[in-house]
Amino acid sequence: MGMKIMMVASEAVPYAKTGGLADVSSALSRALSEHGHDVSIFMPLYSFIPSGQFKEEAIVLDIPLGFETFRIRIFRSNLGDSRVRMLFLDHPLFSGRSGLYGDSGSHTYRDNHIRFALLCRGALEAARKLDMVPDIFHLHDWQSALLPAYLREYAGTGALAGAKTLFTIHNIGYQGIFSKQDLHALALEWDAFSRNKVAYDDSINFLKSAILHSDHITTVSPTYAVEIMSSRFGEGVESLLAERSGAVTGILNGVDYEEWNSKKDPFLPAPFESRNLNGKAEAKQKLQKLAELDADPGIPLIGMVGRLADQKGFGELLDEEKGALRRILDSGPVQIVILGTGASWIESRLLDLAAAYPALRLFLTFSDEMAHLIEGGSDFFLMPSRYEPCGLNQIYSLRYGSIPIVRATGGLADTVIPYREGSSTATGFSFAESDPDQIVECTREALDLWRNRPDVIAGIRKRGMEAHFSWDDSALRYEELYLRLTSR
Ligand code: ADP
Repeated sequence: MGMKIMMVASEAVPYAKTGGLADVSSALSRALSEHGHDVSIFMPLYSFIPSGQFKEEAIVLDIPLGFETFRIRIFRSNLGDSRVRMLFLDHPLFSGRSGLYGDSGSHTYRDNHIRFALLCRGALEAARKLDMVPDIFHLHDWQSALLPAYLREYAGTGALAGAKTLFTIHNIGYQGIFSKQDLHALALEWDAFSRNKVAYDDSINFLKSAILHSDHITTVSPTYAVEIMSSRFGEGVESLLAERSGAVTGILNGVDYEEWNSKKDPFLPAPFESRNLNGKAEAKQKLQKLAELDADPGIPLIGMVGRLADQKGFGELLDEEKGALRRILDSGPVQIVILGTGASWIESRLLDLAAAYPALRLFLTFSDEMAHLIEGGSDFFLMPSRYEPCGLNQIYSLRYGSIPIVRATGGLADTVIPYREGSSTATGFSFAESDPDQIVECTREALDLWRNRPDVIAGIRKRGMEAHFSWDDSALRYEELYLRLTSR
């Protein structure tokens, strides 16, 4: 029998997106709905969401928080052509602002704690008043992390009885940390954030609240689920997570193979698949031309796409002394194309390097078209992340026959089977540590094989192209968890 699931999230494609969370909330909801469940997504009605066609629910909810009462309205729609119900919380705290979390740039709104507390309480009240009490509230990242603490207040009232909470961590680097002084504005006591009513911490941490009070916690790959319980990856909440290790599960994200399908990708010059790679050769040629590189099929081409951030390994790639990028470029005929936007120190180091090495080409912009062409036209795809909760680009690159070279961490470790001499299962190359020497060594090994053992490379590429990471499979794993939580 189908379950009632209410996702509470700050982002969902196509309405609002700053990161992978937006893809997950929509794609997972669609897959669950196709499996016969009744799925809603509860999210803010941001000013930039065109709401002309939405239907307003005939209720007005007054939500008290601290000394104020916030009057919210709810708008309803469907997610595209699916049966997923969209519920939008309308309040000037969202509709009166230009951004999601802040105005352009890195400024964040000072009242984000109140805005997202309102999202959590609004979801609970809307579920109750609209008679949509779900079996599961599925929450995503710190913006919806207070919901389990608020849900406790309904215990004993009969309202929302039986609703369970599942909290998904998409990136533990973002926790929702606010000043202690803000506690009263959230209408919560300290035990929402720590094990008793005593304030151990100097600040309020939304993520901690969800770790303490959710019925279950997931993150977006099995390896990341283990890593975040260690001090190296846990960003300060590792011991809290470790205490709940029995309630922590890693479930890999799927990818949208409608968008990432080399057999019908409008951004590629010709379609291709694992059995016929002529189109891939055309993509490489087009990419070399666009990047103003030698259009020589005999030179291996390495692609990179992503945010220019420390997380993605640019410290190791660009280190003044030991930087891996320069050493790879020095090690023989090779071309490198990088697409990305982000930290200005990374941009400027990259620009310096590109000025010295014509075989390095940069596209410092956001471009879907270039992302697809780089995935299609590269021989290898480099992703030396320091940490990677799941990662999508390496999965796209597998499908597009650009053999991934990755640091074995998080989702990278779970999606790329590394080459070892004589192995017949490999889909890519990986190295253990965030270390320039290891990046260089691993990349050189891959390039050597490409030059000297095309048969081995062809096998790795073929297996990668035939690997499958679908939302359907991920949805099944979430369903199993929901069933366990509701003891069905
Ligand atoms: P993260 O979520 O940490 O940024 P992922 O690999 O999980 O990394 O997902 C990044 C997504 O954003 C991918 O879909 C990738 O193609 C896209 N992306 C990142 N930077 C760019 C860019 N400059 N141009 C086009 N797409 C980009």
